[in-house]
Amino acid sequence: MGGFPERLAAVLEQRREEGLYRHRLTLESSQGPIVSVNGRQYLNFCSNDYLGLAAHPRIVERFRSAAIQYGVGSGASHLVCGHSAPHHQLEEALAEFTGRARALLFSSGYMANAGILSSLLQRGDSVFEDRLNHASLLDGGLHSGARFQRFPHNDVSALKAKLASAQGPKMVVVDGVFSMDGDTAPLAALADACGEHDAWLMVDDAHGFGVLGERGVGSTEAAGLEVSSVPVLMATLGKALGTAGAFVAGSEVLIEGLIQQSRNYIYTTALPPAVAAASLEALSLLREEPWRREHLAQLIVRFRVGAEQLGLPLMMSASAIQPLLVGDAARAVDLSKRLSEAGFLIGAIRPPTVPAGTSRLRITLSAAHSEEQVDQLLEQLAVSWPVS
Ligand SMILES: *Cc1c(COP(=O)(O)O)cnc(C)c1O
Repeated sequence: MGGFPERLAAVLEQRREEGLYRHRLTLESSQGPIVSVNGRQYLNFCSNDYLGLAAHPRIVERFRSAAIQYGVGSGASHLVCGHSAPHHQLEEALAEFTGRARALLFSSGYMANAGILSSLLQRGDSVFEDRLNHASLLDGGLHSGARFQRFPHNDVSALKAKLASAQGPKMVVVDGVFSMDGDTAPLAALADACGEHDAWLMVDDAHGFGVLGERGVGSTEAAGLEVSSVPVLMATLGKALGTAGAFVAGSEVLIEGLIQQSRNYIYTTALPPAVAAASLEALSLLREEPWRREHLAQLIVRFRVGAEQLGLPLMMSASAIQPLLVGDAARAVDLSKRLSEAGFLIGAIRPPTVPAGTSRLRITLSAAHSEEQVDQLLEQLAVSWPVS
């Protein structure tokens, strides 16, 4: 009845045939440079815990003490009675850290992006997105009711041509650091283009926040942008900050508008207060310990120099995301499997996450890695990488 089981079975079969079937790992340890899966230890090069904070003792302790004070569940959505002191303090701290008037917490980055775009945009508007934007931004733009247009990756001239011929309110949306390529958006040029064409710029800095810029504020700080050139700044807390959730930072009117209108904000239970408290501790660590960013930057250079010497197909990335381009999906999976047999966890990224023919190993580095661990990875790649 309904045809659903048959349809699902056909999809599964097709995914298997195309080498696109996905499996989950089940970790038996905390995040860190070494993780345990099926009773075996692996060197972990696939997490987004860029600063090594996900299991930091100070953050765990703050989480524990907040759980004792506030309990586990937030009990309700923010507008009912789920908004607690740690949530409020975290919003104030994030606004101050990013130099914005206000910040607003969301339960996840996916929900934040979908919620921001669907409540800011309406029919008659135009939204322009980089082709390689995160799925949550593309989905948000597509479902917003606005005229949705993609532009070629990082191609500011193509964007300008589209902006010039667009009618009505315009919004340009990009990742600060692209999640599967690791390269950065040309933010200064994008901000100029938006200025010329009276468009709003929104930056999703999931992979730049905490990592890039003098103080770790992210891509906009690294690009030297004025606060006013990026009216909508979004970032997640589950990556460099090592906790969970996301936020958007901007003007008073932006944040109040989202609180009143964003369905993804209004109709969902607030994050546990202890997660907000843990995020406050992570933000303090980020400010107190710039060595984490510096060490990560050194590891990135070390990996790139080593990989270049081995002739590995590095991509144009200066970030903690260092993909190696393989091409064929089945080959990427095979490589990832052989590396895992040798004790290295590295994800094979395949379509539809990346365009067909550009499957890759997505290596991510963390401040928690040692130089020796990066060298071990390079030695293993020298052995496992196909010669053909
Ligand atoms: C991870 C990610 C998100 C989603 O954030 P979650 O908190 O994991 O839902 C959004 N945008 C980008 C660019 C991301 O990498």
